[in-house]
Amino acid sequence: MNCRFCDLEKKEKQRVLEVRETCTVIFSNPRLMPGHLLIIPKRHVLNLSELTVEEKQELFDTAIEYQEKILKSVASGCDLKQHNRPFIQENDLKVDHVHIHLQPREYEDELYLKSHIHDREIFKPLPQEEVMTLIELLR
Ligand SMILES: [Zn+2]
Repeated sequence: MNCRFCDLEKKEKQRVLEVRETCTVIFSNPRLMPGHLLIIPKRHVLNLSELTVEEKQELFDTAIEYQEKILKSVASGCDLKQHNRPFIQENDLKVDHVHIHLQPREYEDELYLKSHIHDREIFKPLPQEEVMTLIELLR
């Protein structure tokens, strides 16, 4: 197995921000904006549900802590995201090793103006029929 997110301490030492017991904080490369960080569990798993209680605890505690650091000294906003898209093959922008993104945000930043501005066209009022269908699947 040749995973870019395994053994980060050895392979990506220059962009590692902190190594904790079960996870690593690293600068994303490529990145969407300055201060785009990844919080990556040390153990190779694909989904959050595969992590132990301790791994989940440290992963989220670390993400929340770094979100606060970003808000304090890097940007006035910060998105926290986790993608789960098994329909996309691994590529230069996608690694099949679970991780959380922290993305510093500002009012009308580049990501908003080039991408998220179009979200408005996608939002629709919630139909009650959809709620009834999905509530059965999700409860
Ligand atoms: Zn891995």
